[in-house]
Amino acid sequence: MGHLTDLAQAAIDDLERERHRHWWIHFPDREPLEVIFAPEQTHSVVLALYPMAVAAEPIPDVLPEPVISRPVPLPTDDRRTCQQCANLDHQRGRDGFRRCAAARRGELPYIASRDYSPVPDVPKRCEGFAPMPDDPDRRTDRERWPELIPNATPEGNLPP
Ligand code: SF4
Repeated sequence: MGHLTDLAQAAIDDLERERHRHWWIHFPDREPLEVIFAPEQTHSVVLALYPMAVAAEPIPDVLPEPVISRPVPLPTDDRRTCQQCANLDHQRGRDGFRRCAAARRGELPYIASRDYSPVPDVPKRCEGFAPMPDDPDRRTDRERWPELIPNATPEGNLPP
């Protein structure tokens, strides 16, 4: 019995160490209530906010499924889609969108914020484009589309 008490106490201690966004709140006389807290809260704060509750149970965040890579047909002209760019995050964010790593690194300062989630399947010419390992065309963005940055060298340096 003492062992069970220790386990229960350990579980409560864990709940107090961790904050969660998403909770089930259980009541003695009605259906459980699903509540989202922003900012995230600990077990004791959640119970304090719902004094009629008998228990509160965190709901684990479910991350979106990783994107399954599959061959993407090349556009028939020289453009590429973000799906064909090594800078498009493999994993989706919590909002379900894939982010551009080049934008996050600040490499697209004039066209995108650092949180940029581009439309993935629209062919374009982009100065941040990087070929995927299996792309037979190994040219950099500046070699493909020098008109995007007229004063840049193929290495990416703007002449003085
Ligand atoms: S660098 Fe350009 S082409 Fe590549 S993912 Fe970002 S926006 Fe799309």
